[in-house]
Amino acid sequence: MATRVIPPRILRKLRYNTATKPLNSSHPPLSPSLSPSPCLLPAPLPSPAVLRPSAAASDDLSFRDVEKLFSSVSTTSLLRSSAVLHATAVEPMVDFGTWLLRSNLMHVHGIRDLILATVRNTFFDHFCAGEDAITTAASIRHLNRAGLRGMLVYGVEDANDNDACHRNFKGFLHTIDVSRSLPPSSVSFVIVKITAICPMSLLERMSDLLRWQHKDPCFSLPWKQDCFPIFSESSPLYHTSNKPEPLTPEEEKDLQLAIQRFHELCHKCVQVNIPLLVDAEHTSVQPAIDYFTYSSAILHNKGDNPIVFGTMQTYLKDAKERLLLAAEAADNMGIPMGFKLVRGAYMSSETKLAESLGYSSPIHDTIEDTHKCFNDCSSFMLEKVANGPGGLVLATHNVESGKLAAAKAHELGIGKVNHKLEFAQLHGMSEALSFGLSNAGFQVSKYMPFGPVETVMPYLLRRAEENRGMLAASGFDRQLMRKELGRRLKAAVF
Ligand SMILES: Cc1cc2nc3c(=O)[nH]c(=O)nc-3n(C[C@H](O)[C@H](O)[C@H](O)COP(=O)(O)OP(=O)(O)OC[C@H]3O[C@@H](n4cnc5c(N)ncnc54)[C@H](O)[C@@H]3O)c2cc1C
Repeated sequence: MATRVIPPRILRKLRYNTATKPLNSSHPPLSPSLSPSPCLLPAPLPSPAVLRPSAAASDDLSFRDVEKLFSSVSTTSLLRSSAVLHATAVEPMVDFGTWLLRSNLMHVHGIRDLILATVRNTFFDHFCAGEDAITTAASIRHLNRAGLRGMLVYGVEDANDNDACHRNFKGFLHTIDVSRSLPPSSVSFVIVKITAICPMSLLERMSDLLRWQHKDPCFSLPWKQDCFPIFSESSPLYHTSNKPEPLTPEEEKDLQLAIQRFHELCHKCVQVNIPLLVDAEHTSVQPAIDYFTYSSAILHNKGDNPIVFGTMQTYLKDAKERLLLAAEAADNMGIPMGFKLVRGAYMSSETKLAESLGYSSPIHDTIEDTHKCFNDCSSFMLEKVANGPGGLVLATHNVESGKLAAAKAHELGIGKVNHKLEFAQLHGMSEALSFGLSNAGFQVSKYMPFGPVETVMPYLLRRAEENRGMLAASGFDRQLMRKELGRRLKAAVF
């Protein structure tokens, strides 16, 4: 049975995450002895001597050979993952689970512990990296042995005040420390959520002010630093119907604190040479998030190696125009920019908000339009990074988008060697696509939330609610897993 690993030669060369001096000199690797998150873990390795580089990368993204696809996954992990994915595809089960976790039963001592223990051993283990640095490190090492990398996100939610922002900030700093304690390149990105380090109300106020300035370019924003364009001509501005008041001195102080937090995270990522990827959120706060991202990219992205990456949600009608404008501005300023492309996770709430204000949804009218937008943006960015600086993360579970991008990347000569492109899927989702892309010669990461179960729970609940369609759509993966389990059973019996 072939064992996929990242060859040490490639690990040393990976640009995203390779410092000129050893990263780990003052940080001994964390003990891998504790049990990692078991989600599709590779089968135990006999001994390091047996490790060998993955077979020569094939040009095809193929799912036909399930034995090869899941070769690094133990049967126990396959069975477990298959069971969890089946459970999350059953709507009433998800409804009951989310009701239970939000119910008063969570305040009853004993019952709460029982519920948390059940969640910990099932969904948490499947979708998350671990509760602490040690279990997370072990999960990432196991992932690396399967030829994949980790994108670490401290699983916190939106913050409403400075205390919460500061606590979350410490969590993100800790994430960078955990990442740097691991072998170089085993963590591809550290994720940050601006909504967790800047109070939500301030992000809404800043977004209002930025929208108003887009309507009226003479409207002055004294706090605004250099930034790429945040809006395009077609960007909807319905969230802001009246001219907003300027930021109060207290709000300006809070903004400075939030900027300091973000700059400290950027600075630390520059030091340890791990890129920082900013997640995208609702359109009510996204202009402010883009402002944080672009103004920091101008300060921290140097050479042709972006440290700060932004996220573009291609389900938005104006996504392509905004991407072109931001990328062009970055080029003109000589700043290497990195983008993560996603379809977007807040479809229902976006549509509801627009309707409540009497406007049409900012989301593409049909899913085909969203697919086209994702694929067009992906093609545009692939050409861009193939011919110049910058980086691209294609965060998708969509097999067609994966195939199209893989074909185009091969055509352009983008693969593991030039490190411009990372494919990414959520931990515990679309394992077949992840392994398939890795076998086809690409860098692939799993997006891995970590932190204590209680802290990560609101994050998991939101994911479960917003991504209902996605969970139900895990059928392709389940089908391939069933096929491989059947094959292994037959092989064991006959
Ligand atoms: C690594 C990673 C990071 C992510 N980070 C973010 C992030 O920062 N911000 C964020 O918002 N999301 C993020 N997501 C979630 C992502 O936006 C999607 O919700 C999710 O990945 C499903 O899209 P897909 O590309 O996998 O495609 P598919 O599996 O094809 O899913 C398509 C989904 O798009 C929805 N959809 C979109 N447009 C339409 C439309 N016009 N009509 C009908 N349905 C439509 C449908 O609900 C459908 O379920 C991330 C996902 C991954 C894998």
